Amino acid sequence: MSDDATARPAKHARCATCGAVVPAKAENPAFPFCSSRCKMVDLGRWLDGSYVASRPLGPDDADELDRIVSLSTDPDTLH
Ligand SMILES: [Zn+2]
Repeated sequence: MSDDATARPAKHARCATCGAVVPAKAENPAFPFCSSRCKMVDLGRWLDGSYVASRPLGPDDADELDRIVSLSTDPDTLH
């Protein structure tokens, strides 16, 4: 009996960009995205302003973007 796939809940996250199952963090440098491509797409949305409030960017926003970029490029800083 090796039917443990139904016995335990799925621990995989879903890629915020394409919705694909995200590989485990230990083996996925692009975590929490499914691939580095999706990570860059998401980052591009941030930089494109899609996720940013509709006001001019100020110094504080630059700091926030720096933080987001560093988190996105180095998943190890998440913990
Ligand atoms: Zn994806």
